[in-house]
Amino acid sequence: MGYLLIHGTIITVDERRRIIDDGAVAIEGREIVDIGKSEELLVRHKDKEIIDASDSIIMPGLIDCHVHLAQALIRGCADDLALVDWLSKRVWVLQGNYSAYEGRVSAELCLLEMIKSGTTTFAETLLASRYGFDGIAEAVLQSGMRAALAKSIMDVSTYADRKNVMYPGMVEDKKACLQQALDLHARWEGSGDGRLSVWLGPRPLGSSSAALLKEVATLAREKQMGIHIHFAEVQEDINFIQQNFGRQPAQLLAELGVLGPRTLLAHGVWLTPEDIDIIREQGATVVHNPSSNSKCASGICPVPELLAAGVNVALGCDGGPSNNTYDMFWEMKLTACLHKVNKLNPTVVPAERVIEMATINGAKALGLEHLIGSLEPGKRADLIVIDCNKPHIVPNLNPVSTVVYAAQGQDVDTVFINGRPVMRQRQVQTMDEEMILTEATRAARDLRARVGLDLGPRWPIY
Ligand SMILES: [Zn+2]
Repeated sequence: MGYLLIHGTIITVDERRRIIDDGAVAIEGREIVDIGKSEELLVRHKDKEIIDASDSIIMPGLIDCHVHLAQALIRGCADDLALVDWLSKRVWVLQGNYSAYEGRVSAELCLLEMIKSGTTTFAETLLASRYGFDGIAEAVLQSGMRAALAKSIMDVSTYADRKNVMYPGMVEDKKACLQQALDLHARWEGSGDGRLSVWLGPRPLGSSSAALLKEVATLAREKQMGIHIHFAEVQEDINFIQQNFGRQPAQLLAELGVLGPRTLLAHGVWLTPEDIDIIREQGATVVHNPSSNSKCASGICPVPELLAAGVNVALGCDGGPSNNTYDMFWEMKLTACLHKVNKLNPTVVPAERVIEMATINGAKALGLEHLIGSLEPGKRADLIVIDCNKPHIVPNLNPVSTVVYAAQGQDVDTVFINGRPVMRQRQVQTMDEEMILTEATRAARDLRARVGLDLGPRWPIY
């Protein structure tokens, strides 16, 4: 019983970084049980359902370490704006009017897009109570995906500068959000055969006090929960921290106990060499979001310096208004290109490092490297099959180059998560695609009409 994928080019991302030509992967239950040459596995696994992966690349499922599920519904609502205006005039106003129904529809749309572009695991950073955490957790379980969902936590209703007041619908009470995070952890941690975990999602300093971050750090240690926080994203963050605390951001977070091997620092754009040293010493991960940082003109994360220092760097798509897609193939290509042009040096951040960021580094970031992030016997069968028989890919002579520079999310043909075929021949098996697209369009129109923001193009509509 189980599945046998044959005749694919396998990018294993195992210890030796082997690439197997005419390779096969055998899956039983939720695990990979065998991997190697097709002719050998065909002899050993006669009982399995065969999936022909000729002209295809088989690789670990992509891991998106910074996602806002609730922002898929507001894709395209805040283009060409600076981050603080982007947040206070558009994103918070729209999200601050969400119902739990809209929260769920947005999550379903996002999950669908992620599966269809080869993401198998993700980390959501800021689930506000009004989005309906339980409905979203149910949607994730139903989709078949693996996720770390973080409940948002805050105690100050501004961002980076006291002038930037949060939209009332986004403000949450400190005691209530801490209690909810604990309740949700008790309810959902480990559900879906271990696919779901619940993390702590404190808003950054400016929306969270130093005292609250200290409390979150203590709670994370007690309950063994991860922390996912926006960090040094824009220059305003650094100014705020320097003016109020007289420190660099990493030093301050280290003093508050926030940094550790299960801390995701989303963005990490404005870092000094001292910040980088502290992050490495503490074992935290920096999640690089090149599309979001480029589109919002937040700055360029020092990825070459982080990699040289030995910091774990993972990748993230961020959200619908900042990216505006959840397709990790875009992030891979932009990661590989952005630092080259920034340094005027085409040898920095080579394609191999980028695939590591999108797979094994993401697994390390989530404390799941013993289960996912590479294709090896004994690990969970989280893998994708990329159809390479296409004009924009042929000739596929170097699969690493193909994945990073030529392939697109829509080339992903088949997706397995936890041993289950969640998508086959681009048909998602776990969700009703047509219904989700219809509902999402309707819900997005309703929300915009209710909030009354003019979000149309600047060109006249006739
Ligand atoms: Zn974000």
